[in-house]
Amino acid sequence: MASIGDRPGDATRVARVIVVSGPSGAGKGTLIGHLRARMPELAVAVSATTRPIRGGEREGREYYFLTPGEFERRVEAGDFVEHVEYAGNRYGTLRSELERILSTGRSVVLEIELRGARAVRASMSEAFLVFITPPSMFELERRLRARATEGDDAITERLATGRREMDAVGEFDVIIVNDDVQRAADELFDVVDRATRAA
Ligand code: 5GP
Repeated sequence: MASIGDRPGDATRVARVIVVSGPSGAGKGTLIGHLRARMPELAVAVSATTRPIRGGEREGREYYFLTPGEFERRVEAGDFVEHVEYAGNRYGTLRSELERILSTGRSVVLEIELRGARAVRASMSEAFLVFITPPSMFELERRLRARATEGDDAITERLATGRREMDAVGEFDVIIVNDDVQRAADELFDVVDRATRAA
């Protein structure tokens, strides 16, 4: 006879906050896309940002796009679990997003930069932190240029930030080198699968 515990995706799982961090261009978004395809019960929290919307992005899907004034109002209202300024724009994790998802019993993935990851770790010690790194700084630069979502100055700034972020790998529970997307996606699935399994 099957018990509740035999059903995949509910009683066998614990709801966790999973932070995926690493330099811009490391492939966080792509790997999270693969992860969601294999674990549809996972939800990704939509952050708020003041950066301009890019072609192909949609309000409420990639981000909630706020004006600087709206963002500041929400900071003052205490709406963010963490928020940072990154490459001249503001980004923040909304408390309401996390609570909405966790209240359904599902794990939630935050795709955020390093300072945000540290802040989440400081306020939620049970969070699981994954660092995605490109195989080298050369590869990171090649990916940022190939993606072509930013101009030269913004790419230079993202590379400088990326170089600093690479020093922080020791603060994470797991480090995944994104040398090959399929292999790295398998590794991310394995670690998240293990981290969300009930003991
Ligand atoms: P992008 O402008 O390329 O979408 O994001 C720039 C950086 O901001 C990426 O490293 C991304 O992971 C990070 N980011 C996105 N949302 C948040 C957030 O809510 N908090 C923090 N700390 N970083 C974020």
